[in-house]
Amino acid sequence: MSPTDELATRLNSVAEHMGATFFGVADLTLPGVHDFMVQRAGEEMLRSYPRAIAVGIALANSIVDQIPRALEQDDAAMAHLNSYHTYDVVVPYLNTIALRLTSMLQAEGYSAMPVPARGTSKAGATKLAGLVSNKLAAHLAGLGWIGKNCLLVTPQAGPRAWWVTVLTSAPLAAGTPMEERCGACHACVDVCPPRALAGRKFVESEPREERLDARRCADFRDQRAEVVGERGCGMCLYICPYGRNSQKPK
Ligand code: SF4
Ligand code: SF4
Repeated sequence: MSPTDELATRLNSVAEHMGATFFGVADLTLPGVHDFMVQRAGEEMLRSYPRAIAVGIALANSIVDQIPRALEQDDAAMAHLNSYHTYDVVVPYLNTIALRLTSMLQAEGYSAMPVPARGTSKAGATKLAGLVSNKLAAHLAGLGWIGKNCLLVTPQAGPRAWWVTVLTSAPLAAGTPMEERCGACHACVDVCPPRALAGRKFVESEPREERLDARRCADFRDQRAEVVGERGCGMCLYICPYGRNSQKPK
């Protein structure tokens, strides 16, 4: 086993022991990837990182399954539970894993940058979270595809996962981007309350606006905050059959 393969195995093992469900390595030197990232973030320094480590944690099905209650019955407790689970539990967990992997990479003499799993109230950190698309990194790592809901969809948990990225100079062996598997499914498009999804398949060269009316989605989630005290929706995450069928309780 080469030293970088051995390092990748250790990184994967540590992430897994810390609670990660998904681990993969994306090759950012694939044609067009650095250009896309630099154009999106306006940060040339991104070109100095040839690899991105994508780490994901599967959300609790028992909580994701309450999303319709929060929405259809205006259940504030369920809306809060879902928000708390994702942003107060899973996101900090991911950031801790990313920091640990960064420390390991630095100890081996490589540069590494943990990208926040989510924007914070601090303007600079929000910009940093936007530096890299966690979904893109996970897709390039071969962990899933960008679905018609504009989320990263995994075969194992559908879109019921949250992601963090660690950029690195370490020349780790990378995965192969996964082909999309939405097929003729339209469930997320049909369930979207404000009809914000166009139902188009992800095409790298097309801007996201072709697939998602982000303003319409954001306005709807803002309205929910006035009703249940939490800004959120998540129906396109809840409904995806790849997630709903993933774990049948015993
Ligand atoms: S979060 Fe809700 S409003 Fe936004 S795209 Fe998904 S289903 Fe539509
Ligand atoms: S609900 Fe269907 S169309 Fe939407 S992301 Fe999942 S598989 Fe794709």
